Amino acid sequence: MQFDVITIFPNLFDSFLNESLIKKSIQKKVNKICVHDLRHWSKNKHKQVDDRPYGGGPGMVLMAEPIIKSVTALKRKNTKIKRKVPFKSKVILLSPAGKQFNQKIAKRFSKLDQLILICGRYEGVDARVNKIIDEKISIGPYILSGGEIPAMVIIEAVSRLVPGYLGNPKSLNEETQFDKNNKKIEYPQYTRPEIIEIGGKKYRVPKILLTGNHQKIKEWRES
Ligand code: SAM
Repeated sequence: MQFDVITIFPNLFDSFLNESLIKKSIQKKVNKICVHDLRHWSKNKHKQVDDRPYGGGPGMVLMAEPIIKSVTALKRKNTKIKRKVPFKSKVILLSPAGKQFNQKIAKRFSKLDQLILICGRYEGVDARVNKIIDEKISIGPYILSGGEIPAMVIIEAVSRLVPGYLGNPKSLNEETQFDKNNKKIEYPQYTRPEIIEIGGKKYRVPKILLTGNHQKIKEWRES
């Protein structure tokens, strides 16, 4: 799956893309994650991509033109690839006013070939961008300073559902499930050592997990 992130702070993604499973998934070519500097599409010699809002008001607004140009360029590139099945691509604007992101949306996005994520900043983006997006997504009912962390949240939640991302895909079946009528919390996990002693207090692993009785452990985990 390919993620294209449009941002004015591409360096924010450096460590995110260079650690842990995300890094491995890029190396294994399970995911392709391209971070694009919006300033690349600025026609201004100072690479300006923001301006004051029409009608007055505080702060600055990201300009529509570089955003629309960047999305047009990134989508066009991908539709050139010859394929038997149509290329499935979506353009997402990160916005606190968007649909709240959840596991169901993550599953839906994981079936796509490409997700273009537009990160807003300052007071947000020129509303003409709404004409070229498919959806607005919020990661929660609070205001962050930019769409970069929301983009990382979406990339991480979606890409771990892409086949090949997790070393053991069975992990996905045992995780907390968020289906509306059937919310299931994953059982508590423990690892070595069996007893931890700190400040005179002992922390023990439940005895059932040490019995080796898989049926009983299963029942305990499901209880
Ligand atoms: N003036 C905007 C408002 O009142 O809705 C807030 C702009 S916010 C400071 C700047 C950018 O951060 C937004 O354009 C969006 O891209 C991103 N952002 C902030 N909070 C977010 C959230 N909860 N989910 C997704 N994106 C968010």
